[in-house]
Amino acid sequence: MENAETPKHSRFCEYLKLEQVVYNLKANDKIQALEELLDVLVRLKHIKNKKPVLTRIIDRERLVTTAIGHGIALPHARVDTGCNIAVVVGRSEKGLDFDAVDGKKVHLIILIVWNPSIPGLFNHLFAGLAQFLIKPGFREKVFKAKSRKELHKILCEIELTLFPPTDKIISRAGLLWKLQKLEIQKRKANKSKKKELQKQANLIRDELDSALLDRFDKLMERYGFAVAELEDGACQGCFINVATGMRSAIEGSDDIYVCENCGKYLVAKKTSK
Ligand SMILES: [Zn+2]
Repeated sequence: MENAETPKHSRFCEYLKLEQVVYNLKANDKIQALEELLDVLVRLKHIKNKKPVLTRIIDRERLVTTAIGHGIALPHARVDTGCNIAVVVGRSEKGLDFDAVDGKKVHLIILIVWNPSIPGLFNHLFAGLAQFLIKPGFREKVFKAKSRKELHKILCEIELTLFPPTDKIISRAGLLWKLQKLEIQKRKANKSKKKELQKQANLIRDELDSALLDRFDKLMERYGFAVAELEDGACQGCFINVATGMRSAIEGSDDIYVCENCGKYLVAKKTSK
């Protein structure tokens, strides 16, 4: 869907200059790492104030981890910083605990701060990044980079597609599942609790594609739920088995699919939440 929000840039390095790459993070934990990266953005004058951005990132992180697995995290915040978007990348040799879906330590952090006036930009950026970072060969190159310059050069290979594939949405299943949970909780909540839940839901809505949200809302209205889990190969929205290829693709992934039978969003079974 082309609209005014569609960004014209198509390469990740248009947002990432060499000085926005930290080859060796000193941080010993997640918060220290986020601070260290935000300090770079302050120094480069991409953001003025570290504190509100940090708070926003931590709030978002608490909702659903931004660690997409395989040693990579994409922490982010939607804050008006005066510029459209600010990106900074950090590499941690020892690895940091980010509560990743696969339990692995994070060695590469791509931090993104974007302006609320251009909501489409983050989707565009996230979809492009996820599509590249999901490829084992590309990750291997990233983790083997011997210097800041080399790491930057490799990240510059990332192209941002204007139209992400519609058959699956990469690394957003946890987020959509959480949104559904919040919407269901909202129905039974009292006024003040409802307000708090709405705030959290909005935080999630801010970073999901508008077409995805439209469909989500329509399904919620019609069926009372929009996202179904895959259990023993069957969609729990309609109890029909999905194709074998689709089953193996969904299981163990954090990607969103659409059930070919009932049209609901289909995600891997969430064991912990
Ligand atoms: Zn179904």
